[in-house]
Amino acid sequence: MLEVDLDALRANWCALRDRTAASVICAGVVKAEAYGLGLERVVRVLAAAGCTTFFTATLEEGRQIRAIAAAADIYILDGLLPGAAAHYTDSGLRPALSSCPEIAEWADHCDATGRMHPAAVHVDTGMNRLGLSLTELRARQTELAAMIGRFDLALVMSHLACADTPDHPLNRSQKTLFDEARTLLPPAPASLANSGGIFLGPDYHYDLVRPGIAVYGGRARDGLPNPMQPVVRLSGRILQIRELQADESIGYGATHVFKAPARTATISYGYADGYLRAISTHPAPPPTVTIATRQAPLVGRISMDLVTADVSAIPPGEIERGGWAELIGNTVGIDDLADSAGTIGYEILTSLGRRVHRIYLENGKAV
Ligand SMILES: *Cc1c(COP(=O)(O)O)cnc(C)c1O
Repeated sequence: MLEVDLDALRANWCALRDRTAASVICAGVVKAEAYGLGLERVVRVLAAAGCTTFFTATLEEGRQIRAIAAAADIYILDGLLPGAAAHYTDSGLRPALSSCPEIAEWADHCDATGRMHPAAVHVDTGMNRLGLSLTELRARQTELAAMIGRFDLALVMSHLACADTPDHPLNRSQKTLFDEARTLLPPAPASLANSGGIFLGPDYHYDLVRPGIAVYGGRARDGLPNPMQPVVRLSGRILQIRELQADESIGYGATHVFKAPARTATISYGYADGYLRAISTHPAPPPTVTIATRQAPLVGRISMDLVTADVSAIPPGEIERGGWAELIGNTVGIDDLADSAGTIGYEILTSLGRRVHRIYLENGKAV
């Protein structure tokens, strides 16, 4: 059971918006089903809180957002695929144009339809994934400006590679290159900051910020306290409680052998649901699960549908077959789990499987 606290989601988005000046637009990044939490619910809540601008990766998700938020500005981070311009404009979607051919194609589409359709231009400043390179922008400035003049340049954007590491030198150098890129392009609103970028301070906010992970309660800065509220709580049912003798092992590979008699709980949740197997094989200490108010360490390997915990320290009266064990919540958050698996909270959230029953809470009640 995955409980998504919509009040915490709203509070996080509002807190991020309030970190920026009133003139700065706070968008919502909702790619990959809103980081696994459910696109429709998340878009509805953010839109009701005042979010008017959404970013997602794919055209298909853009269409889904359009069906929910009729008036929103919706940007597609994948950019423009060849021949697809009409699909974007049919749904009023804005590609983040990432290269000269994409810019040329959008300009041609605008000429052909007789309308200046809005789009963003994505400039690469050091991430080296998508985006118009500075070298190309410098070399072909006049030609590019002429093409861009044929559509509505609604946003100039770039993306930070190391915003989660506040003193990484790449942050400054990306900002410097972004400032240069803006002088080479026609005037337009600008956007550089993801969640981590918002915490880098007002210099990084420009006209629009694009938080994702922090809205969902995740850690935006490494090694610093996370001020966001947790949004998700994940629990699994206790299927069986077992008594084991000393020298018995548990789970695949018999990786954990008990030194003394122990009691274990087998919980219905596994890697097929996104409780990554790496959590149980990574050298970092395994996380605990919470049963009632007590902590029990995971033992043995995580299986496809099952996970086992050592509940020897929990009095038998406080644990029962059919009860719930909390796997993600206030005690073990998404980033704690990520640390146990050697990954990031983003992957924990987006791995949560489709089979998990999702419950959306508002004012403490399922809605
Ligand atoms: C995913 C993404 C974001 C949001 O990043 P977070 O670190 O989750 O805040 C912002 N901008 C772009 C281009 C992205 O791809």
